[in-house]
Amino acid sequence: MALVSLRQLLDEAAAGGYGIGAFNVNNMEQIQAIMEAARETESPVIVQASRGARSYTNDRFLFHLMQAAGELYPEIPVALHQDHGDSPATCISAIELGFTSVMMDGSLLADGKTPSDFEYNVAVTREVVEYAHARGVSVEGELGTLGGIEDGHGSGQVHLTDPDQAVEFVERTGIDALAVAIGTSHGAYKFTKPPTGDVLAMDLIEEIHRRLPDTHLVMHGSSSVPKPLVDAINEYGGEIRPTWGVPVKEIQQGIRHGVRKINVDTDLRLAITGAIRKVFAESPGEFDPRSYLKPARAAMQAVVAERMQQFGQAGHARDYEPKPLDEMQRLYA
Ligand SMILES: [Zn+2]
Repeated sequence: MALVSLRQLLDEAAAGGYGIGAFNVNNMEQIQAIMEAARETESPVIVQASRGARSYTNDRFLFHLMQAAGELYPEIPVALHQDHGDSPATCISAIELGFTSVMMDGSLLADGKTPSDFEYNVAVTREVVEYAHARGVSVEGELGTLGGIEDGHGSGQVHLTDPDQAVEFVERTGIDALAVAIGTSHGAYKFTKPPTGDVLAMDLIEEIHRRLPDTHLVMHGSSSVPKPLVDAINEYGGEIRPTWGVPVKEIQQGIRHGVRKINVDTDLRLAITGAIRKVFAESPGEFDPRSYLKPARAAMQAVVAERMQQFGQAGHARDYEPKPLDEMQRLYA
């Protein structure tokens, strides 16, 4: 079993100068695709579950799928991460379930929609850090808000992260990783044209990293929305409007400036949907779910493996011995 904390994964990534993809899991085919890609590329990996995923699957089903990843792929260091916890209670329930890392997103109130104030964010994040670190579990916080809505989560407004506030936030909360808002959005419709420095503030990452060189930065909403995946959907009857995501070379620039965790969800969704549509269009007589879920799984695996190569995590699965959470607990203490 190689379930590890996010902290160890990201510390190792910082030492090695690479980033790690965090991929969302909602069902068996997704986790199989992610883990097969990790094995194929020998990558450490972060698998994460949103609140939406936890309610879709029921916690127990989802947790045991994630647990199986640790059992079946013992050579791969895996962090099980709660994505966008909306309250300390959500994070605590994830830790009780066995997650090795949680995100307390106090940038929004507990409704997951209303932007909060700074003091609220510090208070709820600090509360989660105290609970989590006492158990060896790592914590990601967020400052600033992203555009878009993901699984009903998001204000729809963009507030870029303020570097001065970021320093104060990290000092007062003690978080392991900081999600920064630099102009990206959740979902498929991020940009209406290829993003330039006006809409994607990569220089802000450089500034925050300069001030917080020891804090791991996280890019949310970082699917690249490649045209071939969109075309594959539209070719078989889909209707995805023209859209642009975050170019991989921008992510790679972020990785050179302290970005260690990169959240990718939409690209997997696009891959699944295109593959399923193709089977439905070409073989309308098919009704065995395996006939379309198998190519969907393969399409997801291909995207994940490509990102693992591009983020630089490929080849790093066996660099270090996974630290159990009780060891992390001692280190935090
Ligand atoms: Zn996010």
